[in-house]
This record gives sequence, C-alpha cells and structure tokens, in this order.
Amino acid sequence: MIEPIFYTVVIVTTIGLLAFVGAVSSAISAYEREFKAAYRLLIISIALVVCAYFLGFSSYWLKPVVAYINIVLLIIAGYLFLKRPIVLQRDAMCTPKRTVDEHNVIFARMRLKPDTSDWDSYYNSHPFEFEQDSLSRKLPGLLSPKSIYYNPFTYQAADTNFALIDYLHSAIPHPTSAKQQEIAPSQLSSLVKEWALRLGAHSIGITELKDYHAYTVRGRGKDKGKPVELKHKFAIAFTVEMDIDNVQAAPASSIVMESSQQYLNSAVIAIQLANLLKGFGFDSRAHIDGDYELICPLVAADAGLGEIGRMGLLMTPTLGPRVRIAVVTTSAPLTVDTAKAGNMMVEFCRFCKKCADCCPSQSIPKGEMQEVDGVLRWQIDSNLCFRYWCTAGTDCGRCMAVCPFSHPDNVLHGAVRHLIVRSRLFARFAYLADDFLYGRKPKPKPLPKWMSV
Ligand code: SF4
Ligand code: SF4
Repeated sequence: MIEPIFYTVVIVTTIGLLAFVGAVSSAISAYEREFKAAYRLLIISIALVVCAYFLGFSSYWLKPVVAYINIVLLIIAGYLFLKRPIVLQRDAMCTPKRTVDEHNVIFARMRLKPDTSDWDSYYNSHPFEFEQDSLSRKLPGLLSPKSIYYNPFTYQAADTNFALIDYLHSAIPHPTSAKQQEIAPSQLSSLVKEWALRLGAHSIGITELKDYHAYTVRGRGKDKGKPVELKHKFAIAFTVEMDIDNVQAAPASSIVMESSQQYLNSAVIAIQLANLLKGFGFDSRAHIDGDYELICPLVAADAGLGEIGRMGLLMTPTLGPRVRIAVVTTSAPLTVDTAKAGNMMVEFCRFCKKCADCCPSQSIPKGEMQEVDGVLRWQIDSNLCFRYWCTAGTDCGRCMAVCPFSHPDNVLHGAVRHLIVRSRLFARFAYLADDFLYGRKPKPKPLPKWMSV
C-alpha cells in the first residue's frame, strides 16, 4: 500500500516544477521586454502554485490518479528532451534545378538604366517585369528621405555600410599565386570553422558545391551577362546573427541599418576566409551582398545550417530567419558536413503562417507549397514585397521579426525549439503558445531610443 504522502510529494513536486518553469519563463520574458508574455506566464505560474497546493494537500479519491498522470507526463517530457529530432522524408521534388538567371532578380532589374541597350533588351523580353518595376520606380525607394520610416541617422548608417560593401567587391576577384600547402582536409575545415566563429559567425557548415546552387547567368556587376561556371568543389556557408532589438522594431529603420551591418560583417568574414585559403594556395571566392554567383540560402541549407521556410529565408535551428548568410567557394580540400539540421521547422511553417498574416504587403503565401520550376516550395511575391520596401524605405523584415523561431537564443526559447523538432504535438502547442503569449499580430517594438534623431 502506497502512503498518501507519496501522492502529495509527487503532485506538489511536478506541478511546482511546472510553476517554477513558468516563473522563470516570465522573468526571462520580462528581461526580453516582452511584458505581455511575462504577465501571462506569471498568472499561469500563480495558478499552478494554487493548483499544487489544493491538489497536493487535499484528500480526494482521485488523488492517486492525478499523481500517476503527473509521473507519466514527467516521463514523456524527459523522453521528448532526450529523443532525436524528427527527420521527415521529402520527395524528389525538393531538389532544386539550376534555373535562376540573376537578371531576373529584382536588385539586378532595379540597376537597369533607361535608354540603354541593357534596359531595352531585358524589358523587351520581360513585359511583366517592366510593368512591375515601373510601379516600384514610382515609389520613394529604399533609403529615400520621402519614405515612411525615414530616419537621418539609420538611413545614413545603412548607406555607409552599403558603400563599404561596394568597396569590398574589389577585394573579391584576386587569384592566388601562393604555393599549395599540404593540410589535411579535416584540419583545414576545422581551422576555417573555428576562425569564422571567432570572427563573429554564428554557425558554419561545408557542402559540396552543386549545380543548382549557382545562378545560370550573372545579372549585375562587372560579370553581368556571363554564364556562371562552377570552378570550385566546395562551399563554406556561414550565418551572422541580426540584433534582436533592431529586428523587432521592423519595418522601422533599425532593420535596414542592421541588415546592412550584418551584410558588411559577413562580407568581411567571407573575404578573410577566402584570402586565408588563397594564402594556402587554393583558388577561392567570397560571395557577398551584391556580388553573388550563387543563391546563399540553398548552399546554407545543404551545408546543414537550416531549412527554407514559408517566407523564403533560411530558418536556422537557434535563430530562425534572424541571420544573414555569406558563402565562400573554394578548390581547397575540405570535409563536408553530413549532420543536417532537422526539417521540422518547415512542418511548423505549414500551420504557423504568422509571417503571412503579419506581412504588410501580403506577399507571403498562406496556402500549401506549390510546384515552382519543378520544386515544391513557398514562393513569396517578390514584386509586392519590394514595392513595400520602396514605400517603407527599409527592407521591412516584419516577417523575420514575428517568426516564432526568431526569439533570442536563450534557455527558454532554446528548450522550446529543442522540443518542437522532436514532437509534432509539442510543435502545435508551441504555435498556440506563441500566439497566446506574443499575439497573432504583435505590434512592432519602438525604434531603439538611441537611434532617434
Ligand atoms: S512565421 Fe511561422 S510560417 Fe513564417 S517562417 Fe516563421 S515559422 Fe514559418
Ligand atoms: S520583408 Fe516585409 S513585405 Fe517582404 S515578405 Fe517580409 S513582411 Fe512581407
């Protein structure tokens, strides 16, 4: 016969543990200045303490049942924490094909100048793009003083960063004449990774360069019009974190300052890595903002850094889409990363749709994935999205700001992400909890005070 005290201890401990987790989560939320979430978590914690008291210290005939249910739930929670992430089988339609001509990318199109042969030859064969781009050109434009979120400081800071990135383009193309060093692939790979992380990268992975990673033809820069040749065997992809405060104010102007800053930081790191490998005698190339031969999110996904989510950005396991990516391709012998991120984030996207609901231009699809060029994916309406950028004056980023995976990488959100990729049921719960705690359409945070001019 089990003593009634045992049931009391079990009930008080398990519900008390949950109340403790709630209270800690409330404190973390307050620290993150998520006051709505902090308040709601605090109320839940207090309610749990009251439950623990009454269920633990009262006498009632169901008490043993409540105690055993709590033990079972505790065991399930422990099992979920320890189990391996779910890896779902994707069909063959997940392998992209090499179809993207960079001329069709909106940033290449916006560089076209009227009354030039480039303008005529592109728009004569692309009337739909002409119509779309004409609408964008009528708007104030990115970093325009006439745009909605004009702020003299942040716009100037972003402009400065973009100018520096342009300057860095000249550091990319130099070939190496150094004598090739004999370094084991595993040692070289670990040196490159460790150095990148110490330079400020958040995550890094290596993949073999695949045909579909690259553009078919360059659409901007000095190589405009040239077919892209894949000269290198390997690609090193890495991410840098975007500051949470600057992202959460999106679409206000801190976002464009932050994007440009992280494009710049990632560009510097990429050039450092490429030059390191060149110094070891291996031909290498940095792919940085404004001068890519390839599509960074595709490379990063194959290098094991994440998945491509509903908003079309790379979703990383610890920062979600709140990153920028750069890539270095190289002929150096490297060790490919076989450990891939799980693919439950895309499953989460199927029911979440928060980015789609919050997108000010309604550019993100709310339905299922569709076949695009033979691949199942979500495709955002980049024309609508860019038109919003031209009105806002910033690169918006509202989708990134509201994504449940963009929360800070701390013990609270880390535990939630850990469980999401291990349990479909928990993923559903986390989706509902995110809406309950932060709101389905959370308001943008104010622009950080120090940026006000
Ligand atoms: S907000 Fe939701 S649907 Fe959109 S990318 Fe993030 S997880 Fe996916
Ligand atoms: S950047 Fe803004 S406009 Fe573009 S898809 Fe994201 S939320 Fe929509």
